[in-house]
Amino acid sequence: STAKLATKDTKSSVTFKDVAGLKEAKIEVMEVVDFLKNPEMYTELGAKIPKGVLLVGPPGTGKTLIAKAVAGEARVPFFSMSGSEFVEMFVGVGASRVRDLFKRAKEKTPSIIFIDEIDAVGRSRGKSGGFQSNDERENTLNQLLTELDGFGPNTGVIVLAATNRPDVLDKALLRPGRFDRHIYLELPTKDEREEIFKVHLRPLKLAGDVKPHDLAKLSPGFSGADIANICNEAALIAARKKEKKVHSHDFMDARDRVVGGMERKSKIIAPKE
Ligand code: ATP
Repeated sequence: STAKLATKDTKSSVTFKDVAGLKEAKIEVMEVVDFLKNPEMYTELGAKIPKGVLLVGPPGTGKTLIAKAVAGEARVPFFSMSGSEFVEMFVGVGASRVRDLFKRAKEKTPSIIFIDEIDAVGRSRGKSGGFQSNDERENTLNQLLTELDGFGPNTGVIVLAATNRPDVLDKALLRPGRFDRHIYLELPTKDEREEIFKVHLRPLKLAGDVKPHDLAKLSPGFSGADIANICNEAALIAARKKEKKVHSHDFMDARDRVVGGMERKSKIIAPKE
């Protein structure tokens, strides 16, 4: 539907306190917040503020979350689009959507543009890897490159893009002045999972037997998104059982359910290449 395809321009209420772990990535994106908040500190010294930052990491590690937190911390508008939305469009629409996205962001500077799944449009040209019209995707990619080159480094627009496939990206996207900065997000360690659990346990009414430390120990390999999922699932299970509080056993049931979902997904989504 057109509503779903509409470019989102939201005031982000996410801040760094919503982002657990990811210490190094946070330090790096804090610099982007500073570019947006105090550009004159850089421009007065003759520095060029980076235009494009690529967030690289496995699914569910918080790429979208940290991009929203940058907008929330800097208190600037957040314009987002998903690369897969671009390529699903009718012929000619992708490029004009890109143009429109940049136009709107430039009207509201300082601002952030976030492009999720940039690999869907930004795959190296000539490697289609799918059934979509290759010309259409290339037109969209070319428009994106044109837009990136079309505004100065100090205009107050910073483009953040996310991918879990940096290896397939067209080299043109990674040239200086485009997405030349990369920030890596990894799956959380046990201690980081504990921190992520604490964030997502905050809104829940918990029984005394729920220990973030134990939950972290029992969820090896889980992403932040999986953890968020478990916490909500546990609350739903408790509600269904008409419990007054969410108990440790609800989390175990939720974990099994999420693991089951992950297994099903990895069976359905067989490796494409
Ligand atoms: P994808 O590649 O699938 O788009 P992503 O890396 O963009 O994933 P997000 O969409 O940012 O991941 O994460 C999904 C949800 O998981 C977030 O909205 C948040 O609730 C939770 N989450 C992920 N990482 C973290 C984290 N480090 N701290 C707190 N919550 C997290």
